[in-house]
Amino acid sequence: MKKIKCDVLVIGGGPAGGVCAVTAKMNYPEKEILVVREFEVQLVPCAIPYIFGETLGCSEKDVASCGMADEMGISTKLGEIEDVNVEKKLAYMDGHEISYDKLVFATGSRPFVHASLQHSLSLDGVFTIPKNKELIDKAKAYIDTINDVVVVGTGFIGIEMAMEFRESGKNVTVIGGSKHILKGSFDPEIAMEAEKILLEKGITFIGRDRVSAIIDKNGDNIVNGVKLKSGRIVNAQAVILATGYKPNTDLAKKIGMPLGKYGGIWVSDYMMTENNDIFAVGDCSSRRTFIGSSPSKVMLASTSAAEGRVAGSTLFSMKYLKGFSGTIAIFSTMVGDRAFSSAGITEDAAHAAHADIVVGTFSGMNRHPSTIPGAQKQLVKLIAVRNGGRIIGGQIIGGDETGEMINIIGLMITSQLTIYNAMSMQVATQPMLTAAPTNYPIVMAATLIAQKIEK
Ligand SMILES: Cc1cc2nc3c(=O)[nH]c(=O)nc-3n(C[C@H](O)[C@H](O)[C@H](O)COP(=O)(O)OP(=O)(O)OC[C@H]3O[C@@H](n4cnc5c(N)ncnc54)[C@H](O)[C@@H]3O)c2cc1C
Repeated sequence: MKKIKCDVLVIGGGPAGGVCAVTAKMNYPEKEILVVREFEVQLVPCAIPYIFGETLGCSEKDVASCGMADEMGISTKLGEIEDVNVEKKLAYMDGHEISYDKLVFATGSRPFVHASLQHSLSLDGVFTIPKNKELIDKAKAYIDTINDVVVVGTGFIGIEMAMEFRESGKNVTVIGGSKHILKGSFDPEIAMEAEKILLEKGITFIGRDRVSAIIDKNGDNIVNGVKLKSGRIVNAQAVILATGYKPNTDLAKKIGMPLGKYGGIWVSDYMMTENNDIFAVGDCSSRRTFIGSSPSKVMLASTSAAEGRVAGSTLFSMKYLKGFSGTIAIFSTMVGDRAFSSAGITEDAAHAAHADIVVGTFSGMNRHPSTIPGAQKQLVKLIAVRNGGRIIGGQIIGGDETGEMINIIGLMITSQLTIYNAMSMQVATQPMLTAAPTNYPIVMAATLIAQKIEK
């Protein structure tokens, strides 16, 4: 057996493992960091939908990740860690024994398919969206040859996939159990704006129904459609199950690591497991909501990368105190040429938690004057706690700038800022780049909340 020695062994080369390794090298340059990952080509998961359509003209090659590992002196090995001896601090992979001082699990997540549909995965034409180039290549090759696609699942991955299939000329039906798409991240009035775009593009959306069976009516192992709980049948030559992801904890379970409620490896606020020398980051770790600290199912690269940074800097010493607790589920998505971004809690979720909140929504333009060519409508919704005005959520619809504006709101949430901080923001503005300084939407939404609180 070939022996390898390192100070830090990171299992997994996705966003969490990659960021953790880079941060560890920056904080502890004298330490030997080794990343082990399964695949030669590491896809950028967030760009996978664009392999299937025309929007970006991306190929699988274009969405392969090019990390900073090599140039920083981080070692990488391809393979699968099959076992770990925790007492002896040894990990095993394909004829190699790796000794480590600190171990980081960054084994990510895999598609989740409801038990009732799992047997249908063997049918030709039924696919999930794994972060695996070989399987994505197979799905694309198949889907390129057919016309009628059903996407099951109305989260942002399902919607992005549906848009790409439609852009490449296919008949697309999206099916979900909830009344509106993007549930959990956007309130109904915002989600309805995205639904309008689906409709304009010619995508059929069936809400409040569920797929009860995937049909192979000729018995030839090739999918022909789906049957819904309502009894309705929808024809399909391909079915994409975008029904969520579950933590990949096979190895963690094998070595008896405690798991959280939704199956992620249990970790402290500093991503440390019950063993001081073992950390877990990203989708494989257990997550909590930022309000109330209840278990969370959120799986996002934004949270994963932040967790990678926290672990990477605290592996050998507590370098700084963490500035956030729990996931704020921050992300952006494009529906047609409109960007939809969300961070923190929605109005609906806040009401469900009986939070005493006040909401401010401001609708303006993303350039000034609004007659500038290319100017688009921009809507910002802020959610704040009535007592003290702390900002706990935000949603934006707009143009490209939305992707960075939500990051401002995200920082406000994690920094526990209030609407009064937002109202005194000094905003850099430029006609071709931003909304007007006189009615910058984040400031205006905060001001509307302040007026309501004062009443
Ligand atoms: C289609 C799609 C679009 C998405 N879009 C967005 C988006 O726009 N914004 C956003 O924030 N999030 C998005 N996400 C979610 C995001 O990709 C995940 O949250 C993120 O990839 C999690 O990162 P991770 O490093 O924890 O895990 P993963 O990316 O799952 O990586 C896990 C790594 O571990 C390796 N591994 C697993 N087991 C072993 C083992 N035993 N030995 C060696 N290696 C192992 C895998 O090969 C892989 O390298 C998207 C996800 C998908 C699928």
